[in-house]
Amino acid sequence: MQVSLQNGADAPRATAAGTMKAHVLVRPGQLELRDMPMPRADEDGIVVRVRAALTCGTDLKTYLRGHPKFEMPMLFGHEFSGEVAEVGAEVRGLREGDAIMAAPTAPCGSCHYCLRQQENLCPDVMPKMVHGAFAEFIKLPGAVVRSNLYSKPSQLPFREAALMEPLACVEHGLSFVTPREDDIVVLIGGGAITLLHLLALRARGCQGIVVVARNPKRAEEAWRAGATDVILADARDARQQVLAMTEGRGADLVVECTGQVEVWQAAPTLARIGGQVILFGGCVSGSTVTFDTDRLHYDQVQMISPFHFTPRDVRRAFELLASGAVKGDHLIAAEHRLEDLPLALDALRAGGGPKFAIVPDGR
Ligand SMILES: [Zn+2]
Ligand SMILES: [Zn+2]
Repeated sequence: MQVSLQNGADAPRATAAGTMKAHVLVRPGQLELRDMPMPRADEDGIVVRVRAALTCGTDLKTYLRGHPKFEMPMLFGHEFSGEVAEVGAEVRGLREGDAIMAAPTAPCGSCHYCLRQQENLCPDVMPKMVHGAFAEFIKLPGAVVRSNLYSKPSQLPFREAALMEPLACVEHGLSFVTPREDDIVVLIGGGAITLLHLLALRARGCQGIVVVARNPKRAEEAWRAGATDVILADARDARQQVLAMTEGRGADLVVECTGQVEVWQAAPTLARIGGQVILFGGCVSGSTVTFDTDRLHYDQVQMISPFHFTPRDVRRAFELLASGAVKGDHLIAAEHRLEDLPLALDALRAGGGPKFAIVPDGR
């Protein structure tokens, strides 16, 4: 319960005026917009008035079938930006009304993993994740304020600033590989994460980015987002076309963005000898995969399956958005009011999006 009701359960007794609207995911498929006690800032934390929250694939999966790391009932939504509504007494450098963008987790800074720069694996990260962006207000603990919160530049729209969290995940994955400007990169999948990889690789100067997608609408979006080529096919059937585009070598870098077992298995078949593969999408818990050992050994294909992000990745994502090196507004198909979150989730389920913005105050 500590995870789920972080944004209100420990607030003082609410008065009638001291309430806010927040979506509560009671169980998979059952979402309720409830009046909740206004969250109160911890001494070292803040409360944020949400100005934009984005839907993501994880939200849809959690809504439809639950999530192994989240306990229900829970507050819902984790990609957001907003304005500071309350500042804890110990917080310095933030004032009510400041526009901010933040990632929803923070590492402890002192455990075995944190001391080895693997803060994404810190045991604090997932259990203390902040949920509740699909609400009027969200409470951020001191750890998040100290490590993963930034002032939002005024020229950056709130809804684009809310892309910092998924972009940080993408930056985390890319921190393990060494793409060159003249590489051919293959991205598998057609959702927001694929498009964020496309934008992040473009920001690194990569010229040749091929998207493999099954859905024609997604393929079209990838094309419009600047893909060099689009292969409209299942990843398992894309090898010949990838070879034809790479003088028979295969891609220098392959990024799997679907979380499907078959796609994980297909990904290294699209890489060149000595190529790199990022298996980005988490599969259903308990899944197993099979790889050809020759590809990993004699062909020395390197594979990494990165999880979440570190504060360095969040900083990089912030810099890319703040500088305009990554412009992701076109990922957001439409804006909905808070009460219309179910409409956005239905549209996502029907293949819309790839993202929707929830704007609580309709501004
Ligand atoms: Zn997300
Ligand atoms: Zn730690």
